[in-house]
Formats: sequence, structure tokens, C-alpha cells
Amino acid sequence: MNISELLARNARKFPDKTAIIDGETELSYAEVNRTVNRLASALARLGVGRGDKVALYMPNTKEFAVSYFAVLRLGAVVVPINARLTAAEVQYILGHSEAKALIAHDSVHQVLAPLVGGSDGMWVKTGKAGVGWLSLEELIDSGDSEEIVCPANGDDEATILYTSGTTGRPKGVLFTHRNVMTVADMIVIETKIDRQSCLLHLMPLSHSAPLHLFFIGGTYVGATHVLAPSFSPDALLELVERHKITHFFGAPVAYLLTAKHPRFDEYDLSSVRCWMYGGAPLSREEVKFVASRFGAGRMMGLYGLTEAGPNGTYLSPEEHGEKAGSVGRYAALHCEVAIVDENGQEVAPGEVGEIVLRGESVMKGYYKDEEKTNEAIKDGWLYTGDLARRDQDGYIWIVDRKKDIIISGGVNIYPKEVEDVLRTHPAVADVAVIGVPHPEWGETAKAFVVLNQPLEPLAEECKRFLSDKLAGYKIPRLYEAIAELPRNATGKVLKQVLRAREAAAQGR
Ligand code: ATP
Repeated sequence: MNISELLARNARKFPDKTAIIDGETELSYAEVNRTVNRLASALARLGVGRGDKVALYMPNTKEFAVSYFAVLRLGAVVVPINARLTAAEVQYILGHSEAKALIAHDSVHQVLAPLVGGSDGMWVKTGKAGVGWLSLEELIDSGDSEEIVCPANGDDEATILYTSGTTGRPKGVLFTHRNVMTVADMIVIETKIDRQSCLLHLMPLSHSAPLHLFFIGGTYVGATHVLAPSFSPDALLELVERHKITHFFGAPVAYLLTAKHPRFDEYDLSSVRCWMYGGAPLSREEVKFVASRFGAGRMMGLYGLTEAGPNGTYLSPEEHGEKAGSVGRYAALHCEVAIVDENGQEVAPGEVGEIVLRGESVMKGYYKDEEKTNEAIKDGWLYTGDLARRDQDGYIWIVDRKKDIIISGGVNIYPKEVEDVLRTHPAVADVAVIGVPHPEWGETAKAFVVLNQPLEPLAEECKRFLSDKLAGYKIPRLYEAIAELPRNATGKVLKQVLRAREAAAQGR
């Protein structure tokens, strides 16, 4: 079994079932499969074969779906690249992955102008052919629709996903067909996705949860996919209503923004059976707020990371009362979870340790980086870099990322704890806390605060607000108002950007 066979099987079993809706275009499973065969045969003629890497630089479109399956059908490896990345970022990924070809979407291909012709690779884009570019549609038209049998098996490599780089240079996370199908199997069972389901894809398919969980999960059972190029609260509300969406996966920020939409209550969202959120932290108050708008009984929280496929733990709809804000008690299907100390021993309830995950969905490794792979996976366990503790009922609460801890005068400060409290101040719209060097204590905490109304003097007001809510040593000494926090596509604050900004300001 391989990912490509999922599509071929659907085309055989229910050819007329709608597979993809992209704008006004609807494609059945048979139509998608036929186009995939055509494109695969054309790519094969141009020299793409088993094991070759092919990069896709496209927003969520029918062309992405077709290209993704066509590359896999040849036993080649897909390297999806977020269509918001710059030419320099794309260049890094193309070089690192040694991509043999790149397929871009016309709507974003101009970004790549500085790269085209600069390598021996094959450049394909949707729409008309151009200088240095082949046309995807012409390739499809020139191809043969005869069924191609994908040569890959479960242990063959299927995808390299580049992490968003919030903790350094993007890493190429390599997955086999089995890794991906394990995640797909998990989500259809845990969230009851079936052939009648209609899934809305507004999060970039270049990321593990949108692609593996949601896109391949839906394909696993022959669901219908509604694809849209980018997220906006309007797009979410309108598409859910128009297509009677049953399942949605979004980053927390997508829910927060949509929940505040002025016409939220005018939309009929009753078709949705499961609102899935995850991929970045959401405080307890935020989860409660989102659940009050979208319906607690339909919310599903997912915790995971790219390297885990992203299979990890989940908080089911029934657990969204008292345990809102936790990432659940149990690992998702096909996964095991533990919280361990530096020696790999499980910590007692209430104690902070690192989350480790084990299972078939964990990556094969970092592409071309054995050292980092060996650091991340020990004795079969993936070390997530996430610190957490279990409560007395066994529920897991994320404390923070290991790399973000501030050690001030020898004691640990978890920025997330401080941020969650400060965010409840009525004048504070957003906040990020980082450690900055301090001559005596090693580090001290600094808060970057986004205000929604004036708050002066900022530092004194914040400190006064925090004084009866947090122990003195946790209260940041330094504050700075900032117009907007730098965030990545999943809404995660890019703390390294804040650290670099701080270092530049201090002349370091
Ligand atoms: P990089 O690995 O390059 O730093 P990244 O952090 O954006 O990039 P992802 O794999 O997208 O990579 O993010 C996974 C991380 O997101 C987890 O390790 C965890 O810190 C956080 N995360 C994911 N889901 C949740 C959740 N439900 N609650 C809290 N944090 C979460």
C-alpha cells in the first residue's frame, strides 16, 4: 500500500464521487486520477523517476493535488514548499533537497524569477509556458492516461517537509508512505471522517497537519476536499456555509480571528461535526473563548509536531470543559506518549519533563542530517523539545518549549505562563516574552506587548497587573510596546526574530 494507491483505489471504487472543489471547478476521483496518470507519464518522459525529489510551490489548488499524487505515482518524493516563502528560502530548500524539478502555481511563480535558469532543474508552472518555464497543462495534455502502478511500498520515502524554522534553519523532515498513512488512519478514526465528509483546506498543504492528517486522511476514505488558496475569516465562514463543511482543521490563530468576526453569528455553521485546532499553543482562556463561539462539543485539540507526522495527543470534544487548554490525556491512535526527565525516566505527576512520542508516524529522520536525527530520536522515542506536566487526572499541560525557557538567577521562567497571564489584561492584545542577557542573573525576561488601547507607563502597569498573579521572579523587568508580533504561517511567534531585534538594539 502507498499514498498514491489511495487515490487510484477511490477512482476504481467510486469514480464519480467528488474529490476536489476548487473555486467553481469540481473534479471527481476518476477525473483526478486520470489527470494524475497523464502528468505522471509526462514527468516520467522528462526523466523524473523513483526516488527523485520534486518540489511544489503552490497554494492549495487542484493543481497542487494533481501534482502531489503524480509525483508520488512515479515513486518520486514530494517536497511541498509554503507558497509564502521568499526566493531565498525556496532556494535553500531546492538546494538542500536536491530537487530535480519544481512545479509552481502561476499566481505565485514570479517570486521565483531570480532562480529560474540558475540550475539544471526542470521548471514547470500552471498556465502558459514562459522563458525557462514549461506549462503544467501542456504537460498534462501530452501525457498518457493509462493507469500507472506506483512502485513504492510502505518503507519508501514519500515526502520531505521543511519545518517552519521557528527554532533555527528549516530542517527537511523525511517521511515514508507508511508514516503518512499511519497519521491518515489515525485521524479518520479519531474524528470520524468518512466518505460523506466534506473537508475545508485553508491551511497551507505544505505543512504536516493540513497535508498528512487532513488531506491524506480525507483521501483515505474518499471524502470531498474543498481547497482555497489562503485563510481569511471571511473565507472560512463563507466556504463552510456554502459547501456544508463537516470538518475543518486550523491553526489556533485562525479560530481566534474568525471568532471575532463581526458577522460570525449570521453564518450557518451547523454542518460542521468537528473543528480541529492545533499546531501552536492556545491558552485556557482562548480555548474557552473559541469553544464558546464554535461549540465546545465539536472542538478537537491536536498536539503534535512535524517530526511526529504530526501525530501526538488530542483533547476530545467531551473534554473541553474543565480540561480546556490541556492537550489531552492519551496519545492518539498509533502513538505513545510519555513525559521524561534528562535520563529518559518518566516524571511524577505535577513535575515538568519533556514530551516524548513513539509510533509508526514518527519521521524516518532529518534529510541528510544523521546527527540531528540521532539527537531527536533516542531508543525509538522522538524528543519533542516541549516541556509539560501531567495533572492529577493524567491530563498533559504544555509548559513551554525547551528552547524558550529563560534561566534567570538559576531559576526557570516559562515564558508561556507569563504570556498567558499578561494576555488577560484588557489593554493587551498580544504578547511574547523572551530572555535577554543580564550581567548578574544570566538572563532576564522581556515582554514585547501589542496594545489595543494606551497603557502608560507600560512597565509599571504591566508589573502591577502581574504582581498578585505571578511570583515576583517570573515578572518581566523589561517591556516594549510593539505594533505586531512576527508570526509564521501557523501563527507561532517567531521568537528568534525578537531575539535578533533585541540583540541589534543592544549593539550585540
Ligand atoms: P521548527 O521546528 O522549525 O522550530 P515549528 O515549531 O513551527 O518549526 P511545527 O512542527 O510546526 O514546527 O510545530 C510543532 C510545535 O508546535 C510543537 O513542538 C509544540 O511546541 C507546538 N504545538 C503544536 N500543537 C500544539 C498544541 N496543541 N498546544 C501547544 N503547542 C502546540
